[in-house]
Amino acid sequence: MKLATRVSQVTPSITLAISAKAKAMKAEGIDVCSFSAGEPDFDTPAHIKEAAKSALDKGKTKYGPAAGEPKLREAIANKLQNDNALNYRPENIIVTNGGKHSLFNLMLALIEPGDEVIIPAPYWLSYPEMVKLAGGSPVIVSTQQEHGYKITPQQLLGAITSNTKLFVLNSPSNPTGSVYTPDEIRSLAEIIVEKNLLVVSDEIYEKILYDDARHLSIGAVGAESFDRTVVSSGFAKSYAMTGWRVGYIAAPVEVIKAMTTIQSHSTSNVCTFAQYGAIAALEGSQDCVEQMRQAFARRRQIMLQAIASISQLSSSKPQGAFYLFVDISKTGMKSLDFCNNLLLNQKVAAIPGVAFGADNCIRLSYATDLTSINKGMERLDKFVNNL
Ligand code: GLU
Repeated sequence: MKLATRVSQVTPSITLAISAKAKAMKAEGIDVCSFSAGEPDFDTPAHIKEAAKSALDKGKTKYGPAAGEPKLREAIANKLQNDNALNYRPENIIVTNGGKHSLFNLMLALIEPGDEVIIPAPYWLSYPEMVKLAGGSPVIVSTQQEHGYKITPQQLLGAITSNTKLFVLNSPSNPTGSVYTPDEIRSLAEIIVEKNLLVVSDEIYEKILYDDARHLSIGAVGAESFDRTVVSSGFAKSYAMTGWRVGYIAAPVEVIKAMTTIQSHSTSNVCTFAQYGAIAALEGSQDCVEQMRQAFARRRQIMLQAIASISQLSSSKPQGAFYLFVDISKTGMKSLDFCNNLLLNQKVAAIPGVAFGADNCIRLSYATDLTSINKGMERLDKFVNNL
């Protein structure tokens, strides 16, 4: 069988592969502590589920507009206006099958062979693969731990060429948990405007912030950066809705139209009744978001303490999302070997940093219960001490 060349240019998603393996081991009765996928262990809040059930009962079971239910597009535009000071209208919004799908469709709508897309590393593993699938070239810019794993304005300037089409910004970041300060965002926005670049700002973790971290969307810096910004987000992380597959993009109308055309020939609309759950998520009480954030904050503290007590490991303190990006350099192991052996010997699932462009690290998700965290950290300690 001769497969299309594009398939050989990409690798399967390691996050999904390892979390599926951990779930399969659990189903076999093996006591696995999984810190793999970034998937909140909480159930979707009841009022969101009720809204989807009621939509089902009301016959919201048919095709809908490819860009999404008008009520949901309106609710998203309102949210972006109220939470983020982003002046979008419903026609600036497309509802997609999760945040991953929104970014994938965006790449298809914007990128063609010869186009370069600047991606700071460590990066979420699907960004470069999506760029390649669209025929473009990812330009990876390695960031430093001492700069909080954040791209500096000088680094961004240095990576721009006449072929640069897009810059991918992700704050709070998966996998590092870094959050750009409002001043840092403003400095990057200046470059975006000066160089007339387009930026896609992946803001899916914007509600999961710690200490005094603040989220500023690069699109909200000023009118000129707004025109050059595409915002990508979704419901999975803030509302524990990973399996619902509802995400969205907010962008200039011509981008939304292009993405809608693509979507109309691929997936059509997102599951209609799921969109009614998403409306309830945005329009209902936001207490659930804060309760989950507080739980993540406690877990972060406990995991940080555990890592600090293992002399061969170290982690910077994440300011957002629900991941620790743990430096394993002192063990002398490559991240894939480390994670494979950790799973085999101690039944602890973690994601190798090589998947995110940093082979000296592993990613631990703390979107899981405290019992698993405590048990898993003891096992990790044992594993490292037996190396
Ligand atoms: N975004 C989550 C993660 O990084 C879910 C898995 C995925 O879609 O890659 O773990």
